[in-house]
Amino acid sequence: MKREEMIQRLQQDHKTYDFIVIGGGATGIGIALEASARGYSVVMLEQSDFTKSTSSKSTKLVHGGVRYLAQGNVALVREACVERGLLTENAPHLVKNQSFIIPADGLWDEIQYTIGLTLYDVMAGSLSLGRSKRISKAKALKRISTFNPDKLTAGVLYYDGQFDDSRLAINSLQTAVEHGAIVLNYTRVTGLMKDKRGKINGVEVTDEELNKSFPVSGKNVINATGVFADDVLLMDNPKNRKTIAPSQGVHVMLDKSFLPGNDGIMIPKTDDGRVLFAVPWHGKVVVGTTDTPVKEASLEPVALDEEIDFILDTAGRYLARAPLRSDVLSVFAGLRPLAALKENNGKKTKEISRSHKIFVTASGLLTLIGGKWTTYRKMGEDLVNRVEKTNKWKHIETKTKHLKIHGFQAKVDLNDPMYFYGSDKDAILQMVAENPSMGEPVSEKLNIIAAQVVWSVKNEMARNIEDFLARRVRCQLLDARESMRIAPKVAAIMAGELGKTLKWQQDQVEQYEEVTQNYILH
Ligand SMILES: Cc1cc2nc3c(=O)[nH]c(=O)nc-3n(C[C@H](O)[C@H](O)[C@H](O)COP(=O)(O)OP(=O)(O)OC[C@H]3O[C@@H](n4cnc5c(N)ncnc54)[C@H](O)[C@@H]3O)c2cc1C
Repeated sequence: MKREEMIQRLQQDHKTYDFIVIGGGATGIGIALEASARGYSVVMLEQSDFTKSTSSKSTKLVHGGVRYLAQGNVALVREACVERGLLTENAPHLVKNQSFIIPADGLWDEIQYTIGLTLYDVMAGSLSLGRSKRISKAKALKRISTFNPDKLTAGVLYYDGQFDDSRLAINSLQTAVEHGAIVLNYTRVTGLMKDKRGKINGVEVTDEELNKSFPVSGKNVINATGVFADDVLLMDNPKNRKTIAPSQGVHVMLDKSFLPGNDGIMIPKTDDGRVLFAVPWHGKVVVGTTDTPVKEASLEPVALDEEIDFILDTAGRYLARAPLRSDVLSVFAGLRPLAALKENNGKKTKEISRSHKIFVTASGLLTLIGGKWTTYRKMGEDLVNRVEKTNKWKHIETKTKHLKIHGFQAKVDLNDPMYFYGSDKDAILQMVAENPSMGEPVSEKLNIIAAQVVWSVKNEMARNIEDFLARRVRCQLLDARESMRIAPKVAAIMAGELGKTLKWQQDQVEQYEEVTQNYILH
């Protein structure tokens, strides 16, 4: 994952790639992984950093979606349960089995949730993560000592997957690169190239670091830009109408004392008819989410006060000690690419379901939207199948079902603060052994050492301090203030690696503080 090498390859190869994927979020990454694993030539282009947008702001669940089951969307749940099982097998260093307890209020709740979740287990078949069951109130309170005892008559225990979204992205990209893919951050697609018949045959790219543009030729161009899909559709045809209606989801991060054990909480009925999760994550607790329609898509959406209040109020009702605004370590927002697609008769609009959709324009631009992180592999599989069919290429069976993701390690010690590096951890420790200054703490509070910064530059394409603090490690989400405190230290180490000036360091810290102010509650 060396940016300079990849950009050079791209400019010198003068090759027509089988796939050009626009967008480096979960969707684009799933496609790049599947296509490269099948042996196709692939370029994936991300305008900012990988997962800068929605794909770093998820609830961190690898799940079938209990909520979708309640809505009767059996096929979606079944597909996601299978993918959940495959991910726990392929990336055990990043995806773990997470127990949840639902606070049930009354006999009807107890029966309903126990039956529903048993069905959820059945759907996963042999890939089930554990059997759901009703547990007594006393047992529930023993497991989650911070439950408000007045809010439950019993608990329903069930299991789902939990992961680190941006780390799965980086490791999946490394896997794609190991299969020959070119993946680049800070490369924006600014236009689509077409042949004489009006068919798309490439893209115009701008290297955002050098402000230099160049063309890349491809047989298939894939729009995997999530909430930004309309911008690319407009590049294809300025008459294309708006298809995406972004909806914002917010999370707050709390100290582990709010949920001290290993279990998460799922609150099944909130005032807005959604569910609320409180999930242990990297020694803290993620709580969310919301569903707020927003007008504009943005790379840095900002949480609204009413969303934060809603999360804190709802969680506060179920916890013995209600979290206050002053308890919030970080708050972050992501955008769902929900779509209001006009039906053929042009009268009705309907929300695209959470299952993914592939559609193709007259000029051959393929767009993949919807879905979720959990199904990123399946989305890649479906898209590549579709391309093979459209091009009348010989079908190659999927190669990703049992593909081990970079860093794979069967045995994982979750108490090790560096567990999420998987098999890469040894190489990081080797750096410390060779140069003890690499072992110096950058943040004792968040267990970060200098070697991790250097590693991210050398092997994970981190280009600036936000890439590191927000997405190579998760300091920005885990404790925004602490991440700002260590920003100058990170800038100094990175500057050494990247050959940057003191002015660069100062600018970096300033820019990071500006963005991260939105993650802090004042
Ligand atoms: C609040 C919330 C919680 C969620 N929680 C979960 C969960 O727990 N589990 C789960 O499975 N799923 C979850 N999801 C769903 C999941 O996060 C999304 O489905 C997924 O991240 C979408 O990925 P994407 O690649 O389609 O979009 P994005 O992550 O938005 O990626 C699109 C990328 O395209 C890039 N781009 C745009 N225009 C250009 C251009 N011109 N050139 C180059 N690049 C461009 C953008 O910069 C962006 O990085 C959640 C979603 C939300 C909003």
